[in-house]
Amino acid sequence: MTIQFACTMCGQCCHNLRLPLSIDEATAWLARGGTVQVFCETIPWPEEPPAHNLQAQHKRRRSFASTSAALPVRVIATIVAAFDGPCPNLDADMRCRIYDVRPRVCRIYPAESNPFIELAPANKACPPEAWSPDKPVFAVHGKLVDAQIAQVIDASRAADASDALLKDRLCAMLHIDTAALANEGFVIHSPARDDALRALQALAVHADGAVLPPDATQWRIVSNQHATVETLQSIGASGAHTSEFPTVPFEYLGFNAAT
Ligand code: SF4
Ligand code: SF4
Repeated sequence: MTIQFACTMCGQCCHNLRLPLSIDEATAWLARGGTVQVFCETIPWPEEPPAHNLQAQHKRRRSFASTSAALPVRVIATIVAAFDGPCPNLDADMRCRIYDVRPRVCRIYPAESNPFIELAPANKACPPEAWSPDKPVFAVHGKLVDAQIAQVIDASRAADASDALLKDRLCAMLHIDTAALANEGFVIHSPARDDALRALQALAVHADGAVLPPDATQWRIVSNQHATVETLQSIGASGAHTSEFPTVPFEYLGFNAAT
């Protein structure tokens, strides 16, 4: 299938967002006065998947190994800049004030950086006229025509992988040890801006390929489903129901109604 596209500068993709950021991007975002959140999800990982399981290998690359009580897990910690309404960097004329240094996710849009998600115009914020047949060819059979965007996607995936181990440290430094079960939701941590910036700047000194020993944080897996908590506990994990934490300093964003 051929997809044709040209940006109309409508600015819709710069509103009401949760922008995933790499460690270097999050550091710059905070230094400019913004705030970030850390979205945490956990995957039970009792054994290594085979090399041909490409989805599992993708998850492995962007996560770090840890434990939840007796259960080996992998944790995906995504640093996110969240805002309602316009991005703090968006001008009234819909131009980005940090265009030359905007995050990779902004450079990639509307393409997908996840290799397992197919580009679907219906899922994008771009208006119908952006996809009209008179526009340049953007992708053919899932392959992007624009080599520059393809390069940014590669860089984004590489940053995801190289940041994973550093995020183990970041979570420990910010006392983050609670995550949702993957595919059920996220636990959202909102560290104070100064704390987050200090922790990220401390990590930056290790960002040039230094191998850090894994942190010994024990992860607690929170769910809004009683059946999930029972299953987690039955396989030796530290599982807890969201109702046990009415005043804890994190949010639970569940994909399903609580049971
Ligand atoms: S950083 Fe720039 S391109 Fe990215 S969402 Fe904000 S205004 Fe849009
Ligand atoms: S939503 Fe699409 S068309 Fe509108 S500014 Fe963003 S990329 Fe361009």
